[in-house]
Amino acid sequence: MALFLGYRMMKEKQKHSLSAVDVMEAHREPAVDLDHLKLLELIGDGRYGNVFRGCLGERCVAVKVFGSAHRQNYVTERSAYFLLQHHDHIARFLSATERTASDGRPEFLILMEYYPHGCLSRYLSLHTVDWSTCCRMTHGVTRGLAFLHTELYRADQYKPAVAHRDVTSSNVLVRADLSCVLSDFGLSMRLTGSTPCCPGNDDTMAISEVGTVRYMAPEVLGGALNLRDCESALKQVDIYALGLLYWESFRRCSDLFPGEAVPEYQLAFQAELGNHPSLEEMQMLVCREKYRPRFPEAWKENSLVLRSLKETMEDCWDQDAEARLTAQCAEERLSDLTLLSTHTLHNHRSLGCRPPQVSSAS
Ligand code: ADP
Ligand code: MG
Ligand code: MG
Repeated sequence: MALFLGYRMMKEKQKHSLSAVDVMEAHREPAVDLDHLKLLELIGDGRYGNVFRGCLGERCVAVKVFGSAHRQNYVTERSAYFLLQHHDHIARFLSATERTASDGRPEFLILMEYYPHGCLSRYLSLHTVDWSTCCRMTHGVTRGLAFLHTELYRADQYKPAVAHRDVTSSNVLVRADLSCVLSDFGLSMRLTGSTPCCPGNDDTMAISEVGTVRYMAPEVLGGALNLRDCESALKQVDIYALGLLYWESFRRCSDLFPGEAVPEYQLAFQAELGNHPSLEEMQMLVCREKYRPRFPEAWKENSLVLRSLKETMEDCWDQDAEARLTAQCAEERLSDLTLLSTHTLHNHRSLGCRPPQVSSAS
């Protein structure tokens, strides 16, 4: 399956609108032989469908099953996978198909590679990670997001910039080698090309009001998303959530808690608002009080590593959306952090200095 939509074909279709179905037409995937597909175990009950571990002949696969009411999420996710395939940090898509469920209604299936560790939040709730693993996990997610956000032209192929719109630690999957991939593109939105989002159309509500409430940026919670520049605004919303994902991950990094117990895993704002924060609670905390997750006591020390790490998180979740890092810049920050060994963490103090190796440009 081609990585990009044929550029000439896209230009041709720009005269009309390039819908998800057009993208589908451009990439007829090999049909799945459903007779050989077996669903074995429910591994995720998401908002729009159930995810199963299954097997296709000898091969272990994950199958996301959308009920007929969620056909649009299926179409969106399938189209996103057609545009995004073959990146090392995007979940590996295998096939998509439709069939009739036992109640006679249609249901829609997306087949993916099976990731045995499941999602990042699950992994982190069960395991702590060392510095290099934590950097590799978060760097991978960031690389996936940077790829998603970038508009690319290669030869005669085109990949639009895409916003994820539901970046959370449940929508990142963990490979057996602990590298991470971005997944769950059911709410993703094309930002460039023939039908980018624009204010004032019927999609305006959807543009500003989707995602997981816990990870919603202050401008989304406050209904102040800048619809005049949707492309930047929606990327900035993804980056805000990425900052929270960094906080959740590095709180489980054993090297950042030398000589003491690593705190239990927590979702962002779980300590403040529990397991099911309401929209109103999130609006009050994040939008009005401008509250952000607290850094642990152990991170008070102003070592080079800790300063750089905290600064990176703060630069992702800045109240001012335009001041946030771009995904490319976050990727550079993470690369720089990866190079800093934990030896640096404990021995090299740089109180009052800007980190020398870490880019501060945004
Ligand atoms: P939803 O759109 O309903 O949130 P997701 O695609 O996020 O659905 O899947 C829900 C959960 O199922 C994920 O958080 C993860 O725990 C699990 N899951 C999804 N895809 C896979 C996969 N390919 N391998 C292993 N677990 C998966
Ligand atoms: Mg999900
Ligand atoms: Mg989803």
